[in-house]
Amino acid sequence: MQPRKNDVIIIGGGVIGVSVAYYAADLGASVLVIEKNHIGAGSSCGNAGLLVPSHCNPLPTPGVVARGIRYLFNPEGPFYIHFRADLELVRWLWRFYRFCNAKHFYHCVGIFSKMGRESLQLHRQLADLGGHRYQFRQDGMLNLYITDQAFQEAREDVVRVKSCGEHSVILDADEARELEPAAGVRVVGGILNKIDGCIDPLEFVKWLAEKAREKGVRFLVDTEVFWLKTDRRRVSKVVTTRGDFEAGQVVLATGAWLPLLAAELEAKIPIEAAKGYSMTFAKTPGAPQIPLILEEARVAVTPFADALRLAGTLELSGLDLAIGRRRLKAIESETYRYLPKLGGLEIREIWRGLRPCTPDGLPVIGRLRPWSNVFVAGGHATKGMSLGPVTGKYLSQMLAGESIGMLERSLSPNRF
Ligand SMILES: Cc1cc2nc3c(=O)[nH]c(=O)nc-3n(C[C@H](O)[C@H](O)[C@H](O)COP(=O)(O)OP(=O)(O)OC[C@H]3O[C@@H](n4cnc5c(N)ncnc54)[C@H](O)[C@@H]3O)c2cc1C
Repeated sequence: MQPRKNDVIIIGGGVIGVSVAYYAADLGASVLVIEKNHIGAGSSCGNAGLLVPSHCNPLPTPGVVARGIRYLFNPEGPFYIHFRADLELVRWLWRFYRFCNAKHFYHCVGIFSKMGRESLQLHRQLADLGGHRYQFRQDGMLNLYITDQAFQEAREDVVRVKSCGEHSVILDADEARELEPAAGVRVVGGILNKIDGCIDPLEFVKWLAEKAREKGVRFLVDTEVFWLKTDRRRVSKVVTTRGDFEAGQVVLATGAWLPLLAAELEAKIPIEAAKGYSMTFAKTPGAPQIPLILEEARVAVTPFADALRLAGTLELSGLDLAIGRRRLKAIESETYRYLPKLGGLEIREIWRGLRPCTPDGLPVIGRLRPWSNVFVAGGHATKGMSLGPVTGKYLSQMLAGESIGMLERSLSPNRF
């Protein structure tokens, strides 16, 4: 078969791949997206869809290891590691541990604060073109607390992480209940992040793909890339289950599966999959009106027009997509501690997805050395929906030969 040529081939049709496609086409590139399943099939589908520029914390934070160890022995806890004989996991955990320090924390806060603000701006521009199609709203997100200790720590964080907390309002218990009447008597307080918002994640990715298609992007679905053929320092062909494709430039945007294709190029990108679940219910009277994070339980609650979604847990269990029933049940029962009036929930969908996580908590965006035409975009962990547009913008600039300045080094896939 004669290989077909494109300026840019993007492998992976999640929020990151589709965002890169959209902005690269904007700059005039001819783009082909290859997706092994359907658009948005990976982690970008049933997630909570929160847009959270207020969340500037990376996953590795001082104190997180101690808290994580406590949860490890609770089969219903929000965090779990499935230990396996895998040197890469051990190495990842060790690196993660080393990044749990204040200096690195503030380094990440600066980066996430900048990226979060820029991405929100792009989200707003996109929403002007069709936000109603994917239920875009930006009327704030409320964090709820049921322990004094967690509430106190969060209040200190608002002051400590000023760049992200400037739009946050601290509410006492009554004020939190007034804002969100679904909150119960156990709630001791809340923090309203006024600039945050939410979207229906799958509808957003599908809509963005449609807009990209209007700009000339082509999508090849149900097609798996299983090999990258190289010629000196270039990838010469992308080899798929439906034939070979030639590309000027290749972008790996395969989420939690990124290390697999990178390994084809003898590159090690330390990304661990962190499984999370969501449950979507038909909306009942008395359901929350604004997006929430139930802090101690680490559960996100997203109200859609006719549905309510609960999302949570973070399990480091490789690429295994098995459903842990006890953890799923725990998400629901934990929710009632904060929202006791929520009753008669009728389940519509149970979903799980794999968050792509780097040990330093920052995404990988940039050219993969020593390859002259291979780029990587991924590792967004809990923030992929929020940071999709800015990632698309940055990487499309790099594809066009432009620099993204200071951030380039911190986000480089070669930094590990
Ligand atoms: C429970 C849960 C809740 C979350 N809530 C939020 C939230 O509220 N806000 C937020 O910002 N983020 C949230 N996230 C994180 C967000 O979902 C991810 O950061 C984001 O979806 C990652 O996008 P991605 O495009 O990198 O990966 P993915 O969406 O996983 O896309 C990768 C794609 O690559 C394809 N692929 C893989 N290998 C190949 C191959 N060899 N050939 C072709 N195609 C391939 C896969 O099929 C997949 O479609 C949540 C995640 C979970 C699990």
